[in-house]
Amino acid sequence: MIHASQGSPFYAQRFRASGIDPQRVDSIRDLDRLPVLQKSEIRAAREDMVVPGSAVVESCTSGSSGSPLIFDVCPRRLEADVAARIRAHQWFNLNPGDPMVYLWGARIEADAQDRFKTVRDWLINETLLNAFELSDERLLAYARVLLNIRPEAMYSYASTLWRLATFVSQACPELRGAVGRVAFATGECVRPDWREAIEAGLGCRVAEEYGCREGGLIAHECDKGTYHLSAENVVVEIVGDDDTPVATGCDGRIIITNLQAFGMPFIRYDTGDRGHLRHGGCACGRGLPTMGRPTGRSFEFLEASDGTRITGVSISRDLKEIPGIAHYRVVQEARDRVRVLVVRVAGDERPEIAGEVAARIRARLGESTRVELQECDELPAIASGKYRYVLNAMDEDAPGCDVVLRNA
Ligand SMILES: [Zn+2]
Repeated sequence: MIHASQGSPFYAQRFRASGIDPQRVDSIRDLDRLPVLQKSEIRAAREDMVVPGSAVVESCTSGSSGSPLIFDVCPRRLEADVAARIRAHQWFNLNPGDPMVYLWGARIEADAQDRFKTVRDWLINETLLNAFELSDERLLAYARVLLNIRPEAMYSYASTLWRLATFVSQACPELRGAVGRVAFATGECVRPDWREAIEAGLGCRVAEEYGCREGGLIAHECDKGTYHLSAENVVVEIVGDDDTPVATGCDGRIIITNLQAFGMPFIRYDTGDRGHLRHGGCACGRGLPTMGRPTGRSFEFLEASDGTRITGVSISRDLKEIPGIAHYRVVQEARDRVRVLVVRVAGDERPEIAGEVAARIRARLGESTRVELQECDELPAIASGKYRYVLNAMDEDAPGCDVVLRNA
């Protein structure tokens, strides 16, 4: 706090205005009067947030959202994330050098696949496959690569792993079970049905890495299924709608303070995700504090006509029960208007689908909700390689409608 308030003009002003003496901050509760940091503030004041003279590089959120957040990151923070990731991978007996496949779609990393990186990857036994625009041909090629390499682990977006695993199970069951130990899923919440499908298709367990580009690696699931915080690097608070902390066990917005972000400090930053802190330890015996499974990004919650927040998981569960739907994307365009993209199972022509979808959505959001069904041959991909299934397009961080509905 002293470093941030002395170095960064933005934080100097913020501490002064809040009447907090950075010299006297001993716990996160001493920061209660410091306003929660919003993405809009970072967009407006990014240059003032950076500590002058710091070695920082520009980075941005994954690009799945309509307007990616641009921020600066210092090597210290990136190294702390790498260390936290290596430690978490060791919880699964996976060490640097064990064969690992990354199925990744972030443009910067994909473009950096130059010769140097190829050699480096070969030396450390890592393979990078591009998760952009996953067609069936590409999925088949990747399934074959996996079977050839037989990696101990995979690392990818949750929905991308799910897509690959589902494809393998349905289209080429002979290629099932190619991953030895664990699939690390990140970037979005792992839905329970995705978890089952990944485990069946890839033949390994799933462990979620929870974090965000701007905030760092926040928590990682252990071999007992508990989410342990990267407590040396990140302080996690859960706050209610009035920005005040809620009790342990209660759901709220996840706010983080990164203790390693010295170049561009992130203090009490609103991640846009929801979740809760947990009481007690874990059967694995590790002493790191724990949190519950993050329940989703704010834009994965839809708003009912009475203002209630409805999780995307419950909508997904409803639609999964309707026969004939292979893929779907539910986009809430306004409080009373929802558009549903549907890809049918091959050969299905039941006209009842539209009515069934509308009934399920109205049961959750309210009878006055207008539901428009749009059939398409393929779900349009979102640039980052993630496939969003339920989206609140009214949310500030959501991918814009032009992105999620394009070419549908
Ligand atoms: Zn544990």
